[in-house]
Amino acid sequence: MSHILVTGGAGYIGSHACKLLAQAGHVPVSFDNLSTGWASAVKFGPLVQGDLLDRAALDAAFAEFQPRAVMHFGALSQVGEATRDPGRYWRNNVIGSLNLIEAMLQAGCRDMVFSSTCATYGDQDGVILDENSAQMPLNAYGATKLAVETMLRDFGASHGLNAVIFRYFNVAGADPEAEIGEWHQPETHLIPVMIEAAAGKRPELVIHGNDYPTADGTCIRDYVHVIDLVDAHIRGLDWLLAGRGSRVFNLGTGAGFSVNEVIRHCREATGLDVPFRFGPRRDGDAAALVSGSTRACEELGWQPERSSLRIMIADAWRWYRTGGYSG
Ligand code: UDP
Repeated sequence: MSHILVTGGAGYIGSHACKLLAQAGHVPVSFDNLSTGWASAVKFGPLVQGDLLDRAALDAAFAEFQPRAVMHFGALSQVGEATRDPGRYWRNNVIGSLNLIEAMLQAGCRDMVFSSTCATYGDQDGVILDENSAQMPLNAYGATKLAVETMLRDFGASHGLNAVIFRYFNVAGADPEAEIGEWHQPETHLIPVMIEAAAGKRPELVIHGNDYPTADGTCIRDYVHVIDLVDAHIRGLDWLLAGRGSRVFNLGTGAGFSVNEVIRHCREATGLDVPFRFGPRRDGDAAALVSGSTRACEELGWQPERSSLRIMIADAWRWYRTGGYSG
């Protein structure tokens, strides 16, 4: 049994990774400042409450648990917020990651699975984005993730750090057993916001723009189920532990859906109406982001089995009805 340090282990994706790590026989040690995560989401291993900006807290966690590898999810991740407050994003995401890398190297830990994003690609006129596409982030969130990718490459060259970098498209859904799920306060992501509108918790969904150069004018995204996504992370960890070295993989399905199409699927999955209105565009949003994901399938043997909109929304809806986390 090896310990794996999971930064952001109390968050949406990190908590799902902890569940699969525990199922794979590892001990996930969550390192989380609980700024957006939930202590009650940490169910599969110990929680260290600490901040990536606190190097001493990181050193103490490495000394106590001697992790074999790191899965690094801990980050601020909202495009709108990043556009309004880039300093907070650069400090937290980039300086925090630098602290983490230096703490790892000091402790002799050289393997990291890193959570990056399709937002590093920016807006490229409806092309399918593969791992070799140019990276031209449109917003500060994508820019900070690209900076960390660059940092990982530099430390790979200088110190033998190995990183499997996953560029996520739009992560959705929840644990099918509804033990854990997506619970942000306030919520800004499309599917949970839509579910809140369907359930009457908010008056309506505001669609951010219907004048994009897409078939129906709303933005197109490639949605991937959180369980499929973290399954790829277990495969990425195995890749590193087998000594296969650094590699970048997109995680998406290759199929894009507009906001209008997601609403239609939400009606079908919940049986409820989704009240909505059109609002202005949100700063930093690309018109279309769709993944070319054959590399993860071919090289990691990954198959996104739950990533239909029907299953993702049904799982998110089941989780929503548990009442989520508190405290
Ligand atoms: N979106 C929307 N209304 C909302 C939330 C999101 O129209 O209340 C749109 C958003 O503009 C984007 C898509 O839904 O085109 C997915 O947004 P989300 O915030 O879920 O993820 P992102 O693409 O920013 O990672």
